Amino acid sequence: MAKGIKILTEHINTPGIETFEVYKKSGGYAAVEKVIKKMTPEEVVEEVKKSGVRGRGGAGFPMGMKWSFLAKPEGVPRYLVCNADESEPGTFKDHFLMKSIPHLLIEGMIVSSFALGAHKSFIYVRGELMYVIRILEKAIEEAKAAGYLGKNILGSGYDLELVVQPGGGAYICGEETALLESLEGKRGNPRNKPPFPAVKGLYQSPTVVNNVESIANTPWIINNGGDAYAALGIGRSTGTKLISASGHIKNPGVYEIELGLPVEEFLYSDEFLGGIRDGHHLKAVVAGGSSVPILPANLFLKTANGEDRLMSYESLSDGGFASGTMLGSGGFIAMDETTCIVRNTWNFSRFYHHESCGQCSPCREGTGWMEKVLHRIEHGHGNMRDIDLLVDVAKKIEGNTICPLGDAAAWPVASAIRHFRDEFEWHVKYPKEATMKGAVYVKEEVLV
Ligand code: SF4
Repeated sequence: MAKGIKILTEHINTPGIETFEVYKKSGGYAAVEKVIKKMTPEEVVEEVKKSGVRGRGGAGFPMGMKWSFLAKPEGVPRYLVCNADESEPGTFKDHFLMKSIPHLLIEGMIVSSFALGAHKSFIYVRGELMYVIRILEKAIEEAKAAGYLGKNILGSGYDLELVVQPGGGAYICGEETALLESLEGKRGNPRNKPPFPAVKGLYQSPTVVNNVESIANTPWIINNGGDAYAALGIGRSTGTKLISASGHIKNPGVYEIELGLPVEEFLYSDEFLGGIRDGHHLKAVVAGGSSVPILPANLFLKTANGEDRLMSYESLSDGGFASGTMLGSGGFIAMDETTCIVRNTWNFSRFYHHESCGQCSPCREGTGWMEKVLHRIEHGHGNMRDIDLLVDVAKKIEGNTICPLGDAAAWPVASAIRHFRDEFEWHVKYPKEATMKGAVYVKEEVLV
């Protein structure tokens, strides 16, 4: 591992880095110059493929492969859409990147649009982040004035228009086909697939939708080569990853880590999270945003084989749903022994019920049932059958919906019961104690 390497955040603390001038002085826009003057779109796609970089929005699908699926019919426009609708509870890294170093995303958009043959590209930003939208619009104006955007970029004959679109104000608009609907001015309902966006996306034209962090990696890949990127990280988890860390840790914030970093080092070293707040112990972790399975602390630190767990796609999912979780969007939430898992699960369930678009019944009805049953248990009116009922509802949602929101709602509930069933049972057996302010069930062996 190349300890301490920074791809996205190397210049983040440089004063004035949000301006074109300082960004350019720090080596910015070199990748645009390189692709426009020296490379063909196919060569750019090839470098990104070689890098092995995987989609950083949560799904982890190889970005170069996604690009190569893009249909290229004659006479039909192609679009690149940047998904900046970051709304997953616990995830705030794209927000941080866009507000701190907006030109990195703009440069990545130019490089990626050139590779895909797009002449009009969109950045769909979470609507609540109006100030970030203004920052991006200013950066676009600066890049345009310098000749890096607009007509005939750097005299090459390549034209690109970049549009920043405020999001529709719903979590579901972060699902790529719902995002496209919303971008077209319609209600943000996910589409049935196929056809996939690579064939029929925005305005029925071939479209690639990529996350902010994924796109922001492309300038480094072009400047240093796909092989150099692939040499970072571990196995199929190449490169670095932004992690937004929150909860009961000493140093919350956004961190860029090289994939493969031991979980223990990430959690306890002063360079990163600095450990759990004084006098407390880690009880549970949500490693990749609210939709990934929650893990008890003891299972989070070690894999099923007793090996040290690493911050990588493969290591975090080691053990499957029995003892693993997912890297997801990198929304890392640490919970100490003062956290009630039932209350936390109910809280997540309320969110998914509220955000369900209502198109498919397993999600529309199931999220509501889960929320109601969890409310009942948390407030001292549950019975033992309710716990199995929750497992059953979660099972019936999983894999049976149009979009991944169904799974995202089911997994936190199923995993909380899988790993903390005794805590749910305690709520049913001792409703008086469970509803007392500050009372939390703690099983010593899961704490670390
Ligand atoms: Fe809508 Fe939920 Fe179905 Fe997704 S899974 S389409 S959010 S009802």
